Amino acid sequence: MVSQTKQIVQDSLNALLEDTAFLPGLQGNDREQAFTSLGAILSTPNHVHKSFLRIALENGSVVRIPAFRVQHNNALGPYKGGIRFHESVNEEEVINLASLMTLKNALHDVPYGGGKGGIILDPRSFSEKDLHLICKKYVQYFSDIIGPDKDIPAPDMGSGEREMDWMMAEYKSIRPGQAYKGSFTGKSIVNGGSLGRREATGKGVYFTFRYMLYDFMKEQRKFLTNNDNPFAKTALDYDGKPLKIGVQGFGNVGSVAALEAFQCQYLENKVVAVSDKNVTLYNPDGLDIPALVRYTSLHNSDLPTTIEQLEEAGIKAEIQDRSELLYLDMDVLILAALEDQVHEKNMDKIKARIIVEGANAPVTSEADKYLSDKGVIIIPDILANAGGVIVSYFEWMQGRETQFYSEDQVYQLLHQQMKTTMDSILPAYFGDPFPLRQNCYIHSVMKLSTVLYKQGKLY
Ligand code: GLU
Repeated sequence: MVSQTKQIVQDSLNALLEDTAFLPGLQGNDREQAFTSLGAILSTPNHVHKSFLRIALENGSVVRIPAFRVQHNNALGPYKGGIRFHESVNEEEVINLASLMTLKNALHDVPYGGGKGGIILDPRSFSEKDLHLICKKYVQYFSDIIGPDKDIPAPDMGSGEREMDWMMAEYKSIRPGQAYKGSFTGKSIVNGGSLGRREATGKGVYFTFRYMLYDFMKEQRKFLTNNDNPFAKTALDYDGKPLKIGVQGFGNVGSVAALEAFQCQYLENKVVAVSDKNVTLYNPDGLDIPALVRYTSLHNSDLPTTIEQLEEAGIKAEIQDRSELLYLDMDVLILAALEDQVHEKNMDKIKARIIVEGANAPVTSEADKYLSDKGVIIIPDILANAGGVIVSYFEWMQGRETQFYSEDQVYQLLHQQMKTTMDSILPAYFGDPFPLRQNCYIHSVMKLSTVLYKQGKLY
């Protein structure tokens, strides 16, 4: 997967090198040299920080837990990105996720660079007291490199507002008298968080899909008719027809996206399948998503796994293995779990014609190519799942202004920002030969290249 990000960045640079209308001030050898520099800058992180947090656990044992903070690029602003709490975290993965943040922020015009953190642990196997200590230690070890104008962490998989509150409080104790509200985003509302931040990624994922399939279709039909672009064909095939949707992952992103799909007034959706780390629930007539959301909120975020539990929740569904979700009969597959979920070994079993990447990097490069060649539309992570970081930016701004927006204002601003991005990308996408992911990367790379060039960094 790591090589996929690097490869697409390089392909984007190659395309831009040939496009003489782009950065026309750079010609001949200077141009070659500048593009070589760009390749080096964008394919390598600025800093990789690694520490082993020493923690005295509640049970009396003392452990050292590996933790990372990767700062990929800050040409557009302070480094920004979540801290992942997961047992599968590794250095290469955090570097890749940090580079995706650089591209994501550039794509959506969020004035941040890209960073990412990770702690190798399964948060469910630690007590609350242990987790509190781990969060405090993380800030102690990395306090010199983070800060409201340097590097601003946020939640990612396995972390949420509780962890951000703890971390912000520790940052404040370490740096008394200094600005601290903007040191972390994704905090609880009482601690300066933004209304709508928790729901933002899932809402943005669904909005991106809806915008492409409904709003853009309605307003910009001229791009779709008589167009060879595979998305145009798919969109016209589905025009006004009911859509069967499956959602992999029922956490912060998947459950919100599923609920948005269920409640959507614009498209005729049926959410036929959802899954989490234990189970797939399937009902070809559509699942009762609000009932599932209620159930998970009472049961440690887990979906029901037995007939008795389904009855308790009042839900009609077939219980299947968690891995089955991907292969069920559906039109749209929203991937909102981990990376590398669709890969060489299972790509030929996918039936969906549209895949939406709610998670970061859930489709490997082999699967991406195979499915795109088959005409499957993949709405890429950096386009679809930026809602979280966009609302993080609103949170950071609100902290500075000490003025807070209503939930409706937040969603309005979020949709406006994502709409602006799509309106600038989609016309080009419908007019050129690149898949949507490549198109988004070109857009981000253009922005980063222009900024770096004007900053005099391309020597
Ligand atoms: N972890 C989220 C992401 O991958 C949000 C990052 C942020 O809010 O800074 O986009």
